[in-house]
Amino acid sequence: MGLNRCIACGKTFTARAQSPQQSYCSNAPCQKERRRLWQREKRREDPDYRADQVQAHKAWLARHPDYWRQYREAHPEYVEQNRTQQRARRAEKSPEPVAKMDASIGTSPLKSGTYRLTLMSDDDVAKMDVWMAEITLISTA
Ligand SMILES: [Zn+2]
Repeated sequence: MGLNRCIACGKTFTARAQSPQQSYCSNAPCQKERRRLWQREKRREDPDYRADQVQAHKAWLARHPDYWRQYREAHPEYVEQNRTQQRARRAEKSPEPVAKMDASIGTSPLKSGTYRLTLMSDDDVAKMDVWMAEITLISTA
């Protein structure tokens, strides 16, 4: 039985005999992280699971109709952050729904980072092929 290194906290731990490949230690935050990532992956790839989650969330909200109103009252910083993000999304959406060709020049240069590229056909319909591309900003001038 060897020592494994926890993906979340980086500490070494002794894996259980039943699961020698165990990649998270038994600390509560690490287990929480493991479940969070598992759920995210599951939501991404399993439409039934995603639909169930949406249903469960709606049902829960129906049982707790005042939850968001109370949450907003208790967390004014959340309301403000939300408002700012919404304004940014709205500004991004208008005036046209398709990505602008000159997005990389002008006043708002692309930020360096990993981007997902989708091939558009002539009628502006996204095709299924998707690439990941690393874009590095060299100069804004
Ligand atoms: Zn850990």
